[in-house]
Amino acid sequence: MSTELNATSLDTLCAALCYAMGIEAPAQAAPANQDLCDYVDKVLNGKKVDRILMYNPDAIAQWIEEKYPNQLLEVNNRAELNIPMRAVMPSVTPVCFGTMYTGAQPEVHGIQKYTKPVITIDTIFDAMIRAGKKCAILGDTKCSLCNIYLDREMDYFPCENIAEINAKAIELIERDEHDFIVVYNGNYDAKMHKVGPEGIWALGELRANSHAFALLYEMVKKHWTGHDTLVGFGMDHGCHEIDGGCGSHGLDMPEDLNIVHHYVIRPATK
Ligand SMILES: [Zn+2]
Repeated sequence: MSTELNATSLDTLCAALCYAMGIEAPAQAAPANQDLCDYVDKVLNGKKVDRILMYNPDAIAQWIEEKYPNQLLEVNNRAELNIPMRAVMPSVTPVCFGTMYTGAQPEVHGIQKYTKPVITIDTIFDAMIRAGKKCAILGDTKCSLCNIYLDREMDYFPCENIAEINAKAIELIERDEHDFIVVYNGNYDAKMHKVGPEGIWALGELRANSHAFALLYEMVKKHWTGHDTLVGFGMDHGCHEIDGGCGSHGLDMPEDLNIVHHYVIRPATK
C-alpha cells in the first residue's frame, strides 16, 4: 500500500467533465484534470462528448482495488483511463461529493463535515443547465448526492434501494433524453462500515458495484449509439479498517484519501 498521498486532487475532476462536454466549468472549479482532457482529445480528435454517465460508488479505496482487482474486473475490462486522485478532507461522503461536482475545496463549497445542506455555490449541474443540458441524479432518498444538489432545474429520482436506483438508471438510458446522468450506489460503504473493508460481505458489494457499472455501460453502448458518451466509475473517498473488524473513513491518510477513477468514451456509431 502506498504511504504517499496522490498528487492530483479530486477538485480537478469537475472542470475536466465540463471540458469533455465542451461547456464552461462552474465559477469556482479548480483547473481541469489534464489526464482526462488529454484522453477526450485523443479519442475524439478534438470533438467533445454530448453525454456523460457517471456511476458513483461509495468508499472504494485505491488499496482495496489494488488488493482485490478481480472484484472490479468488469470495470477494468471496460475502462480505458485510470486516474489516481486524492479525496478532500474530511474524507466523508457529502464533503467529497461536494468537491466532485463543484470543483471547489470544502471551505469554498461549504460542507466541511458530515452534513447534507444544499450547496449554494456554482455546480456542474448549474453549468450544464446553463449550456442547455438535461441532468438527472439517481440515489437513495437519504444519500448525500440526492440532497446536496437539490433546488436545480433538473430531474431527481430518490429511490428506496440499490436495485431500484439501477433499474431507474436503465430506464433513463433507454429513454435517451438526459445529457448528464449521475448514479449513486452506496452499498460497499454501508457494508464496509459493518464488516470492514475486506469483509466478505463488503467485497461482495464491491463486485456488485462492478457489475452495476458494466450493466449501465452496456445499456449506453446499445441505446446511445447516436452520442459520444463519457462513462465514469468515480468514488468519493477510500476507507480503512478499525477495531472490532469494522470499517471507517474521514481521516487524513492514504487509505482514506487515495482513490482511482476509471473512464471510457463510447464514440457515436451512427
Ligand atoms: Zn462516502
